[in-house]
Amino acid sequence: MGRRKLVVGNWKMNGMREHLGEVEAIGRVAAAHPSVEVGLCLPATLIMAGSERRGAAFIGAQNCHMDISGAYTGSLSAEMLAEAGATWVITGHSERREARGETNADIAAKSAAAHQAGLNVILCVGETLAVRDAGRAEQVVADQLLASLPEGAAADWLAVAYEPIWAIGTGRIPTMEAVAAMHAALRAALASRIGAEADRMRILYGGSMNGDNAADLLAIADVDGGLVGGASLSAKKFAPIIEAADQQMAAAA
Ligand code: PEP
Repeated sequence: MGRRKLVVGNWKMNGMREHLGEVEAIGRVAAAHPSVEVGLCLPATLIMAGSERRGAAFIGAQNCHMDISGAYTGSLSAEMLAEAGATWVITGHSERREARGETNADIAAKSAAAHQAGLNVILCVGETLAVRDAGRAEQVVADQLLASLPEGAAADWLAVAYEPIWAIGTGRIPTMEAVAAMHAALRAALASRIGAEADRMRILYGGSMNGDNAADLLAIADVDGGLVGGASLSAKKFAPIIEAADQQMAAAA
């Protein structure tokens, strides 16, 4: 069976209670496109209320701690996020790798902790522009993925998101050929570690995905969905991406 497209919004540090109507509207779009798995990774403050109004969309968190509990002021454990209503969590987003100094080992530990708490994981990887310009993107990102992949990673609880750092929030995206080559390289890297399970694992593209480029990106063989920042903040902008994923599912059926 083919891989079900997964389209996930990352609201980052955006969203107040007044925006819960958008969660509800996105939940309705998800219900209208059941071939696609749709989710929203909300700020932690909205997870509980969002999960009550999520419709057919799942609610995720954007980060978790690697320990179950302890003296970590300001942090949230995977278990706490799950209790609040999250069923997924993003790990390794470049905005945390870069600004918070999270290492590959931290990300593997957070991903394992999330799985332990029953959360599914979107593990992010991606290269800087300097690495891409140096022609080393595929090697560097494949190495990063293998170094941050938790023990026992399996497709029923972990998806990978390839997010070129220079494409996040910039309106720039790689060429379709570059995306195809990267996703194929990441699947090959996964196969070297987890064998046939790699064929079942979803690899999302993230970085300035929007209603105009989603159809082309989602048509690439190894692109199994999207991680979407800015264009996920409203149902109006997010719906065309979900629809494009639905069309790809129909075309593949
Ligand atoms: C992201 O931050 O994960 C992201 C993909 O952002 P944007 O879509 O805004 O580039």
